[in-house]
Amino acid sequence: MFVYADNAATTALSPTALRTMTAALQDVYGNPSSLHRMGRVAAAALKGARETMAKYLGAKPEEIYFTGCGTEADNWALRFAAYAGAKEGKKHLISSAIEHHAVLHTLAALEKEGFEVTLLPVYENGIVHLEDLEAAIRPDTALVSIMYANNEIGTIQPVAEIGKLCREKGVLFHTDAVQAAGHLPIDVAAQNIDMLSLSGHKFHAPKGVGLLYCRKGIRLRPFIEGGAQERGKRAGTEALPSIMAMAAAFAESCENMKANAEHVSRLRDKLIEGLEKIPFSRLTGDREKRLPGIVSFCFEGIEGESLLLRLDMAGICASSGSACTSGSLDPSHVLLALGLPHEIAHGSLRLSLCEYNTEEEVDYILEQVPQVVRTLREMSPVWGHMMEKYPNPYAD
Ligand SMILES: *Cc1c(COP(=O)(O)O)cnc(C)c1O
Repeated sequence: MFVYADNAATTALSPTALRTMTAALQDVYGNPSSLHRMGRVAAAALKGARETMAKYLGAKPEEIYFTGCGTEADNWALRFAAYAGAKEGKKHLISSAIEHHAVLHTLAALEKEGFEVTLLPVYENGIVHLEDLEAAIRPDTALVSIMYANNEIGTIQPVAEIGKLCREKGVLFHTDAVQAAGHLPIDVAAQNIDMLSLSGHKFHAPKGVGLLYCRKGIRLRPFIEGGAQERGKRAGTEALPSIMAMAAAFAESCENMKANAEHVSRLRDKLIEGLEKIPFSRLTGDREKRLPGIVSFCFEGIEGESLLLRLDMAGICASSGSACTSGSLDPSHVLLALGLPHEIAHGSLRLSLCEYNTEEEVDYILEQVPQVVRTLREMSPVWGHMMEKYPNPYAD
């Protein structure tokens, strides 16, 4: 059996997105800036896509700026807010300890440029406390950037409450909604969001397209200089087929959000219930306030990477917060921020589902993971040491 359970890393194109993109690649090849008929066709398609994205975000079309990806939108929002703040003598930025590297590494770069960064703790359940945010906001705070939902443990932050607090305090609020978009309701006006990043490939659109929403009235500065595209704020000929496919996929995801969430969260809960039966396992992140599709666990006594390789051999595509993809052996900053010790954080597994996953696939995962965990434990010296202290749950 083959199971793709890594939808938080990226998703497959939806048939709608694929159809839209293929048609656009063939027929909408004009440059939206051209005055002739092909240009006008392209400009109309771009306008339509912008209106669709705005509609489902509760925004106005002129508040949408298409970008090359979610990372670009995050970089743009943070640098813009930091430099705008610095002009008024505000050089303090607030974020959380579990942001995506697109945010954390940009903040680290800004720190080197003389900005001061406060990272809010998230406690055992992976959620920031409003009191901590309130206490951290200072007269010289230029920006609060807190993600809507976490990509590793799926926890959902109280974005509307954060937005309200920031608005009251007169501080700009940006949210990285890359993991939330298409899966959780977004209404930038009702949630008091000033800036928001999203990316197409996390909701069945192609990779390499995203957007930054920036509330009207905020004088956004360009991040990439050049032509007059995106009202002079983001130069470069628009990736129209990708933008059109993203709008189609976003509309589809938002229209089906409730039904998808019901199906996916039922599968998620079945997985959680089954995996919790594995001895010395623990769910990471809040049980209730989590994305419909994300299941995240730590299994003591094993390495996340070995687990992934074995699952891959069994046909299951999953992910781990402890994969040393970057050549680093450190476990994920997200799991450490939950207060988990290194040795436990090392044995992490993330299964991320989407509406294409089936109950049969979940049953297959529940058959494979406990077996693989057991096999790895039986080979693991760490587990061996643990079993000198505890009764061996596999002994019978
Ligand atoms: C995937 C992801 C990003 C990066 O988006 P890209 O389009 O891949 O650059 C940023 N933030 C979060 C929370 C993500 O899950």
